[in-house]
Parts: sequence; C-alpha cells; structure tokens
Amino acid sequence: MTHIVTSLCLRDGACIEVCPVECMIPGKQEDGWPWIYIDPDTCIDCGACIPECPFEAIFPEDEVPDAYVAKDGTVISDAEGSEPYDAHTKIGGGGTVTIAKTRKLKAGDTIDLKPGIKPNYDFFKGGPGYGK
Ligand code: SF4
Ligand code: SF4
Repeated sequence: MTHIVTSLCLRDGACIEVCPVECMIPGKQEDGWPWIYIDPDTCIDCGACIPECPFEAIFPEDEVPDAYVAKDGTVISDAEGSEPYDAHTKIGGGGTVTIAKTRKLKAGDTIDLKPGIKPNYDFFKGGPGYGK
C-alpha cells in the first residue's frame, strides 16, 4: 500500500520534512495537482505525515474517501477550480506559490478524493514531472 496526498493539499510542504524515508516528492507547480507525490515502493505507511498536514490532505490509500464532507471554507485544488490560491510553502527554499485552480467549499459539500490515487502511481511510472 502507500499513503496518498489528495486535492486538499495546498502545498505548504510540512509533510515532506517528517517523512522518515524521504519518499514525498513535490511535483512541479506547473504540472498541476496533485502537488506532492508519495513513492509507493518506498512509503512504509508509518503515518507520520498525516498529523503534520494542516489541511488533513493525506490518507492511507485504502482510506481515501469518495465522499469527503467539507468544512466551511475548505479549499481544494483541482481541474474544476477557477480561483488562484497563494500558498506559503517550505518547498524549494520557501516563499509563496500561486496555485492556479482552486475551489472553496461550503460546509457539508461532499467531494470524491479518490481521483488522487491514479496520478500518484502514474508519476512514478514516468508521468508528468518525473525525473525533472
Ligand atoms: S506514511 Fe510515513 S513513509 Fe509514507 S509518506 Fe507518510 S511519512 Fe512517509
Ligand atoms: S502538509 Fe498537507 S498541505 Fe502541506 S504539502 Fe503536505 S499534504 Fe500538502
């Protein structure tokens, strides 16, 4: 198994610092969501990254929800979004990165986070951004 970073990720980079096996890799911002990839062959499913995430974006693969219930103001980054979001990040020396497409949800909105699983595996098969 592995853990998965879902579209709730807003790329602050906190999780990367605690991973004991350094298997969390930031994709290039221009490659779009997902922002952080987890190498499924290296992840030891320790769960250390989960409490570090201020947006509760990380799940064990078999617990990624298909009907995540949002709190008011939850921001997700995905292809349907149209609002830019300025994220403060520790990645790449730190600073601010603008995520081009986000959506702000209302309390009770439900979203399927499972589409985050396949791109994670595709990345390590040589998908967009891999090896750059
Ligand atoms: S579950 Fe553990 S090994 Fe896997 S990405 Fe998170 S911190 Fe790293
Ligand atoms: S801690 Fe959460 S929001 Fe920050 S980069 Fe990791 S998954 Fe994304």
